[in-house]
Amino acid sequence: MAKILILHTGGTIGMTRTEAGYRPDGEYFRQAVFHMDSLKAKGMPEWDFLETDPLLDSSLMTVAEWNTIGQVIADRYSQYDGFVILHGTDTMAYTASALSFMLKGLNKPVILTGSQIPLCETRSDGRDNLITSMIIAGAGKVREVCIYFGGLLLRGNRATKYSADGMQAFVSPNYPPLATAGISIQYNDSALLHRRSDRFEMRAFANVPIGVIKVFPGIRFELFESVLTGKLRGVVIETFGSGNIPDVGGKLLPLLEKARANGTVITVCSQCPQATVDINAYETGHMFVQAGAVSGRDMTTEAAVAKLYYLFSVYSDPERIHYSMERDIRGELTAKEDL
Ligand code: ASP
Repeated sequence: MAKILILHTGGTIGMTRTEAGYRPDGEYFRQAVFHMDSLKAKGMPEWDFLETDPLLDSSLMTVAEWNTIGQVIADRYSQYDGFVILHGTDTMAYTASALSFMLKGLNKPVILTGSQIPLCETRSDGRDNLITSMIIAGAGKVREVCIYFGGLLLRGNRATKYSADGMQAFVSPNYPPLATAGISIQYNDSALLHRRSDRFEMRAFANVPIGVIKVFPGIRFELFESVLTGKLRGVVIETFGSGNIPDVGGKLLPLLEKARANGTVITVCSQCPQATVDINAYETGHMFVQAGAVSGRDMTTEAAVAKLYYLFSVYSDPERIHYSMERDIRGELTAKEDL
């Protein structure tokens, strides 16, 4: 029988109401999980339960917490057949992306889940999310970092939070679901990552300065002059459509060129959830080609941010990082040659 580690890191699923609003309540949640009959039912995997300290609303998660979660998995990798990480929804797609890069050669399921309504409330979606995640982790069919939520199993570094109100909080607009959980759990075999042959290892992230800039009509790039310095190692620019940017007055190109000369890796993503960035497609994206920026292709901003942290943690040469940003390393993007 499979054995799974449940790691509670915080988030709505384990919160109870206080005068200041919902906050994580470890004691309540521990009791609730240990008393959940379905988790002990016949056919369910065996499990152990751990929690991080402190439990956090996921909006407070940082690189340090990503490293802690990665380390918990790495330290216990051989003891368990899979891992279920209970996490807040707000930054779940960032943590899932970070873990996908951090856990190199992963050959076991790591499923992140949580809920929109706390387990302490009658209509909570946490119970099904937890139980189905346990079943998926125990089945061992997926060997990658995923998010299970509201009936969908998504690749973690393809997912993005789409709804703060609905029970289906996540979508992966540029990649099909890995499984759908209806009456039975249907896996999409052709979408799963192949079994890894390389050795499993955890590569902790360095807290390098990374930035995200979202463009809008009339953006005054001169205001970013103090941001686009050599201190910023990687920047993700969320552009319009397939990589377009309004360089009114020609202020942007010199800034980008200076940033690139300083070793900053500029990655171009899209504000459209469903998009493939190609900086060669339009004249309004051409300055990115001139400035030596990376086409983020169909990567989410979450994946691009996590990938920059990862690559800056393992390489020091910006050219090497630039090269890897454009290539698929954990199923996070569709490379040009795959289309
Ligand atoms: N603010 C919560 C969190 O991300 C929201 C949630 O879990 O749904 O921790």
